Amino acid sequence: MTNKQVRLASRPEGLPNDSNWSFDERPVPTPGDGDVLVKVSHISLDPAMRAWMNEGATYIEDVKVGDVMRANCVGEVVESRSPKLRAGDTVQGVLGVQQYALAEPKDLLKIDATLAPIQSYLGVLGWPGMTAYFGLLDIGKAGEGDTVVISGAAGAVGSVAGQIARIKGCRVIGIAGGPEKCAYLIDELGFDGAIDYKNENIRHRLSELCPKRVDVFFDNVGGEILDAVLSKIAMHARIVISGAISQYNSPRFRGPNNYMALLTNRARMEGFVVFDYAKDCPKAAAEIAQWMAEGKLKAKEHVVEGIESFPSAFLRLFSGEKLGKLVLEV
Ligand code: NAP
Repeated sequence: MTNKQVRLASRPEGLPNDSNWSFDERPVPTPGDGDVLVKVSHISLDPAMRAWMNEGATYIEDVKVGDVMRANCVGEVVESRSPKLRAGDTVQGVLGVQQYALAEPKDLLKIDATLAPIQSYLGVLGWPGMTAYFGLLDIGKAGEGDTVVISGAAGAVGSVAGQIARIKGCRVIGIAGGPEKCAYLIDELGFDGAIDYKNENIRHRLSELCPKRVDVFFDNVGGEILDAVLSKIAMHARIVISGAISQYNSPRFRGPNNYMALLTNRARMEGFVVFDYAKDCPKAAAEIAQWMAEGKLKAKEHVVEGIESFPSAFLRLFSGEKLGKLVLEV
């Protein structure tokens, strides 16, 4: 049996291309004492992976050239040499872009495959869902009557953040690329309004859709969109810095221009890393699962098949050719 892997061949400048990846086939490894062998079934494609390809640590070590690309995955334990997990258990962990991975049980989370499709543990019930939950409620302090604007709104994090804001009684406006995504936000997810940043003037539309200005901005995108929303914030607004995907392939990272809007509006801008909330995640995931069971929250996955598709599938994060959580089925 062989183990197909995708390795980082070189560091990209700008958007990654095929020369940045190499495909490898190695024998499937044998677990040592205390380890398990996991057969990966789904690989999560996340914008943060682009930052891990650059030299130098961010909130986590960079991936070294020649190493298997780091990725969050779900899969099944196929061989166990640990009393903590058994063959047949379904697990989630950072297993990399490969078909099989060795892991220690302490680095894996056992998941209940009967509760939800296992790929949901990479999306709505995984880190993206948790990012939405804690970013919106703990950092953004969104509550009844607030006007909440979300960028990257049709993506894995944004779509969940917007629906949680609706559940909490907020007025929710999403920003996304293209009329189909905007229609999806309003018709399927119950957003109060949507702005197509590729075809509409964001500032004009914000003035129309947010007559009381913006209390909470959940920003996944950064760049020009962040500047546009900053110009419309309300007094004591909370700007949640979840990410800045518009800048991840840019050689010169662009920060906000009109940050003085924070001063005039006595507002707060705060970043966060979801891993800091690890101990509270089971409770948040249970609450999200409950909202899903009650039909109050929906999740969509865009599944691409085959490990060979990894390089082209990864680019969909930046072109926007996907709806909801992007997942590679191995
Ligand atoms: P995603 O939204 O599912 O996918 C990325 C989306 O971003 C694309 O579908 C695209 O949608 C949009 N996009 C790409 N390039 C853009 C550009 N130049 N301008 C405007 N929009 C652009 O990704 P996700 O997993 O939900 O992640 C969203 C953000 O959350 C990322 O910034 C990520 O780094 C961040 N994040 C943060 C944490 C944390 O702990 N802070 C954890 C997880 C994720 P359109 O078609 O609408 O353009």
